[in-house]
Parts: sequence; structure tokens; C-alpha cells
Amino acid sequence: MERRLFGSTEREVAVIGQGTWQLDGDRRAAVSALRRGLDLGMVHIDTAEMYGGAEGIVAEAIAGRRDEVFLVSKVLPQNASRSKTIAACEKSLARLKTDRLDCYLLHWRGSHPLQETIAAFEQLRTDGMILSWGVSNFDVSDLQEVHAIVDVGDGRLACNQVLYHLNERAIEHGVLPWCKKHGVAVVGYSPFGHGDFPDRHSAEGQVLHDIATAHGATARQVALRFLARQAPLFAIPKASSPAHASENGGAGDLRLTTDELALIDRTFTPGPPPRELPML
Ligand code: NAP
Repeated sequence: MERRLFGSTEREVAVIGQGTWQLDGDRRAAVSALRRGLDLGMVHIDTAEMYGGAEGIVAEAIAGRRDEVFLVSKVLPQNASRSKTIAACEKSLARLKTDRLDCYLLHWRGSHPLQETIAAFEQLRTDGMILSWGVSNFDVSDLQEVHAIVDVGDGRLACNQVLYHLNERAIEHGVLPWCKKHGVAVVGYSPFGHGDFPDRHSAEGQVLHDIATAHGATARQVALRFLARQAPLFAIPKASSPAHASENGGAGDLRLTTDELALIDRTFTPGPPPRELPML
């Protein structure tokens, strides 16, 4: 599994991680899937206070293996005042049965002033409850507001987690270049389109299939590899079964040629810049 520096954290993190949204169906399968993912090096586990019982499932999966994991959770915007952010983090830590998060994110922008949320994040960092903090669903203008509050160049903003899959490449217009310039990790969520992966029998799906065949890989592995093709990109697919986790983990060692990357780029064009950053 390839790893790369995660923003300014000085931590090398697997380029393919594991999402946990809607992972609360078959608990035993979900725990096994996450553990299989860890075995394959998918140590970046993404969860959130919003994801119902997911933090409890993660706790079970990482029991005895905490030091292997790069553990990320998120505070909901309505809880992102200074005091409530700290309380939300404490509750997430309790549900996750751990004493620290590796990164803590604001899930999306809400009405609480960013200054307050960031002050709470800094306090949590000073107190050792989080190693780093970041944001999610932030467009360039939002990132610039963070920049006005803290010097992004000093590494305090570790990551921006955003919607990114083959049919939704809006981040490439502004967010990705901004983050690259400022050393901020870009974590692409819903890399399989949240269950809307290109059909095998479509022209686009055939392109993925042909590239996959040439590598003895699968179309999903090719897609993941494209989405995590270079720094500062990471991808966090969600899998409910060990078989799906195994397939996704296999993307971490796949290497696509420059021509293959260019072909995928031409097949799934980014389209014009949207007026607003898309999110789920
Ligand atoms: P996704 O990862 O794009 O797609 C998940 C779907 O793909 C599920 O139906 C899953 O099925 C299926 N799948 C996974 N691996 C597969 C495989 N190898 N073969 C066939 N099907 C496979 O969707 P997502 O859950 O929306 O996004 C991933 C993670 O990103 C989330 O879990 C969450 O952690 C994060 N996220 C963050 C935000 C945010 O606002 N920050 C928003 C959305 C998501 P099974 O479940 O049956 O395996």
C-alpha cells in the first residue's frame, strides 16, 4: 500500500483509506471489513459523529490496533461552537474508545464563526486530544477564510475532505490546486459515486475495464488509483464486506501509466467549473 505525507502532519498515510458512512448494517461484516482493510494497509479510517453507530463499529475494529490507524472523525456544523466542539470531540473519543484522533474535521460550514471552531481545534490539539485538524466540503473562498484566521503555511490546516469521483471532478478547478499549493491533504470522499459507479457496459466503463484487464486488476481499483494518482490526493471508499475491502485495498499498489491516466482523464472529463462546490 502506497503511503504519502498527509498535509503537514508528518505522518505517512495510506493513499486508499476506509469510509464508514452507512456502515451500520451487518455489524460483524462491517468490523471484519475494516479489519481486513487494516491488514491490507488501509489505515486511514474516516468516521463522524453524524454516522450513527459507525464510531462504535470502528472502536470494535481497531481494538488493540490503535497505533496502526490514522483515525479521523468530524464535528457537525451545529455543534461547532468553541465549547460544543470540545464536548463533541470528547464524545467521539468515548465512542471510539480511544484517547486521541489523528485528525478532526468540521463536517461542513454552518453558522458558527470559523474562529470559534478553529479555537476549539487548537485547544484540542494543545491538550493532545487531536494530532491535527481540517475541514470538509470547503470551497476556495472558505479555505481563504481559514487562511485569514490561521497562517495555512504553518501547517495547522491539515486537510480538506471533498466529493471526488470519476463523474464529479469539480475540485480540480480550484480546490485541488489551492490545497496543493498550501500543503493541504485532499481526501476524496464517495470515490465510487456513493454507489453510482460507471456501468461495465457503458463506453466509459469499458475503458476502465480494458485498463484493469491489462493490469490483472478491477475497474474499481483503476478508478481508485486515478483518484489517488498524485499528492496531495487520498481516497476513502466505504466497504461493508471483507471481499469489497480486499478489492479496494488492492488499488494501493496498482501503478497506472501516463497514457492510461491521460485516457481516463479524457474519458471522464471534469466539465466546467460549478457555481458551488458539489457535496453529498
Ligand atoms: P462510496 O465509497 O463512493 O461507495 C460506497 C458503495 O460502493 C457502497 O454501496 C459499497 O457497497 C460499494 N462498494 C465499495 N467497495 C466495493 C467493491 N469493491 N465492489 C463493489 N461495490 C463496492 O460512497 P460513500 O460511502 O459515500 O463515500 C465513502 C466515504 O466517504 C464515506 O463512507 C464517508 O466516510 C466519507 N464521506 C464523507 C462525506 C463528507 O461530507 N465529508 C460525505 C460522504 C462520504 P458495500 O457497502 O456493500 O460494500
